[in-house]
Amino acid sequence: MKKALITGVTGQDGFYLSNLLLEKSYEVFGVYRKSVIDVHDRVPDLNPRVKLIEGDLRDSTRLFSILKEFQPNEIYNLAAQSFIPNAWEQPELTCDINGMGVLRLLEAIRIVNPKIRLFQVSSREIFGISSESPQTENTKINPMNPYAAAKAFARAMINSYIEKYGIYASEGIAFNHESPRRGKEFVTRAISISVARIKEGLQEFAELGNLDTKRDWGFAGDYVELMWLSLQQEKPDKYIIATGETHTIREFVEEAFEFVSMPIIWEGEGMNEVGKYNGKIVVKVNPLFYRPGEANWLFGDIRKAREKLGWEPKTKFRELVQMMVKHDLEELQGTSK
Ligand code: NAP
Repeated sequence: MKKALITGVTGQDGFYLSNLLLEKSYEVFGVYRKSVIDVHDRVPDLNPRVKLIEGDLRDSTRLFSILKEFQPNEIYNLAAQSFIPNAWEQPELTCDINGMGVLRLLEAIRIVNPKIRLFQVSSREIFGISSESPQTENTKINPMNPYAAAKAFARAMINSYIEKYGIYASEGIAFNHESPRRGKEFVTRAISISVARIKEGLQEFAELGNLDTKRDWGFAGDYVELMWLSLQQEKPDKYIIATGETHTIREFVEEAFEFVSMPIIWEGEGMNEVGKYNGKIVVKVNPLFYRPGEANWLFGDIRKAREKLGWEPKTKFRELVQMMVKHDLEELQGTSK
């Protein structure tokens, strides 16, 4: 039985990846951070077959002892401070977790067992303002925030450890991926929750930033398959994880309201634009939610993953929106499973 260690098991991707690896008959160990709330209460539906281990990417001694004790064949490093606005509030902490954390893992692998394979999730953010579109594995990186800079540092360390020590470390350059488990601070989940609440009469309207911001959005459940596939190859490599399609926040909002049978009509322009259903305002634009330097030109070229791994994202944009709104609606109605 192969053993896999997942860091960030309490996060969105950790949930989907742990289920996938259990289906594939792995023994799965999940590293979680200590918090005042018990880990079982934080993710009550995490499969009980996942063996939970307390640890932190900032604590190298603990990482060493975890690797020594559990001897995984594969490590999936999903742990990160993953919200960009927080990265600006806590740049040093973000770099410590997202950048130095990867170096600590590489060192632990090198010393404990250099045969352990590592998968690192990087981000489209490393491209910053990119000179080419769509982005490929070879697109020049240009990180423009602490989150991206830390992921770029992690990439450089991975390249160095492959070169110097022959460590097997693959990297997925992930574009935005969502699900009903997406953190509530992210725009997609904020929309799905608001739409469910508006439908149930618990909220009047949703407030959003730039409606014309574009994203390459995929489903997290599809993306974790690529993570596993990439570690089954003879050699480590880098892969773009994306859909290759972009959609606007406006489209996301329209699909979400459509799903709850509240088709909306847009009126006005810019900051004064509103979305109305039956003459009532259900969407307002709030400049406070504008994000400077929106990278509208970023979308991924997935030809390499398709050709080399046979990987393809299965979930379409509309299905993704519907899945999220359905979940939030059922949660409000107390009918979620
Ligand atoms: P997420 O839901 O925010 O989960 C992040 C996980 O990291 C949580 O389990 C968190 O634990 C854990 N973590 C944070 N700091 C830690 C530390 N110091 N030590 C150990 N664990 C720590 O993120 P996600 O959406 O699943 O994303 C997974 C990975 O993909 C991340 O590396 C992210 O940067 C990358 N990525 C995601 C996207 C996306 O669109 N989702 C796009 C590009 C790249 P707590 O529960 O204790 O906070």
